[in-house]
Parts: sequence; structure tokens; C-alpha cells
Amino acid sequence: MSSPTDRQYHFDTRVVRISQLTPRMRRITVSSPELAAFHVENGPNIKLYFALPDGGRASRTYTVRHFRRDALELDIDFLLHEPDGAASHWARHAQPGDTLAIMGPRAPLDLAGETHVLLLADLCALPAASALLETLPADSCGTALLAVPAAEEIIALQHPAGVRVQWVVDSAIDALLPALAALPASQWRDAYLWAAAESGVVKAIREHFIAAGRSSRARTRLVGYWKLGQAEQDHA
Ligand SMILES: Cc1cc2nc3c(=O)[nH]c(=O)nc-3n(C[C@H](O)[C@H](O)[C@H](O)COP(=O)(O)OP(=O)(O)OC[C@H]3O[C@@H](n4cnc5c(N)ncnc54)[C@H](O)[C@@H]3O)c2cc1C
Repeated sequence: MSSPTDRQYHFDTRVVRISQLTPRMRRITVSSPELAAFHVENGPNIKLYFALPDGGRASRTYTVRHFRRDALELDIDFLLHEPDGAASHWARHAQPGDTLAIMGPRAPLDLAGETHVLLLADLCALPAASALLETLPADSCGTALLAVPAAEEIIALQHPAGVRVQWVVDSAIDALLPALAALPASQWRDAYLWAAAESGVVKAIREHFIAAGRSSRARTRLVGYWKLGQAEQDHA
């Protein structure tokens, strides 16, 4: 039986606010009276629907950075990547009043019982990593390796004092790999492992964990958030 948080709803929303958080990250706030039925707070995945240049429509997966029930508003943080895709193109040109169709939410990962974590994220996974860091128990410890292509993309984060946030400022797609290799396995062998980045990078991260003796998939969530050279509908 599916849990209540796995129920999927369709919402027709409108853009109410746009703010440029950093040079590459744009926050788009949408609202709708229909969001009264939205039932998960910050961090779940949603599907967004966009027109494709060939006249079709495709869905893209994003993270609900914040949901404010009192205002019926959702914040979604879009990486404006190059080359563009349907979602990043829409976000680059969005204006207040534009419509956005949403399906979801998928229940967010629940790390409430985890007191030792290793989180790895690239820039498009920073909204998800930020939401996870906010929900960790206050006595959690561990490391968050967060890769950004330039120092201007670093943002303020809320996280437990025992979780060390290490920014990896490097524009290489696989910038997380040397940073991970430099971490002694003793620091994460017993930790909950979460990684979200380009698919090939996530594969290399998985291989690193296996080579370091962590073959079990328990307490591990490694997710390809995008694929180099491919649009989401061609690899998801
Ligand atoms: C669970 C989940 C949650 C996600 N949450 C967010 C989020 O909150 N914010 C966010 O910005 N993204 C998020 N993503 C990633 C986002 O879904 C992908 O980046 C998606 O491909 C963007 O769609 P698009 O239409 O812009 O590009 P697409 O049409 O899918 O791709 C077009 C081109 O852009 C390239 N491309 C796609 N994504 C990136 C990228 N991240 N960096 C560099 N090049 C890229 C592709 O390789 C391709 O060449 C999430 C993904 C998942 C699976």
C-alpha cells in the first residue's frame, strides 16, 4: 500500500516571484489555491512539465526547496545550465504570471534517524542537499561535500554543528571524486551515504564505495540527477 506521502497530485500554478540567488541559481516561487492539497514540507521531488521545441511536452524532476502552507507558495531553485534544456530555458525566461504544471510530490528521503552521514552533491543537487542538512537530527555528525563551479555559487546553509560542510570549488563535472578520494573511509564507513550528481560521476562514486569495502546498498542512496549530453526524457 502506498504511504500518504507517495500520493501524486497535479497542480496548475503561476509564477509569483523570481530571485537570482547566485549567478547560476534562480529561485522561482509559484503559487496556486490548489496547493492546499500539497502535503509534504521542504525537500520532496516533483515533476514539472515544459513544452519542447518539437511541440511535445516533457517532464523534469526538481526539488521543493520550501513549501509555505500559509501562503500556498513553493520555491524551486533552478540551475541555469549550458547548454540549456527545456527546464533551464523556461527558468531563464520566466516572468511573474507564467504558468507551471506540477505533479507530485514524491516523499522526501527521511534521515531523521541518522546521526552519521556523508552527503555529496553537485550544484543542481544543492537544493536537495540543503533540505537534507536542515532535517538531520541536531546531534548528527559527518561530512557534506558540495561541489560548485565557482566561489560565487557558495550559499549559507543550516546544518548540525557536527556535520562539516566542505565546499569543492572546481568547474570539472567530476570535482567530487578527488574530494571523496581524500576522505579516509574510516570517516564514512558506518555513515548513511547520499550522493546526487551527474550519472557517470555517481557511478564512479558507487565504485569508490565498493572498492573501499562498502558493498551493501543498505543506508545508501546514490542518484544520477542528470546525464552529460542527454536531456532527461532520453535517460530517465
Ligand atoms: C530527484 C531530483 C531532484 C532534482 N532537483 C533539482 C533542483 O532542485 N534544481 C535543479 O536545478 N536541478 C534539479 N535536478 C536536476 C534536473 O532534473 C536536471 O538537471 C534536468 O536535466 C534539467 O532539465 P533541463 O530541461 O534543464 O535539461 P535537459 O533537457 O534534461 O538537458 C539538456 C542538456 O543540458 C544538460 N544538463 C542537464 N542538467 C544539467 C546540469 N545539472 N548541469 C549541467 N548540464 C546539465 C544535459 O546534459 C543536456 O545536454 C534534480 C534531479 C533529480 C533526479
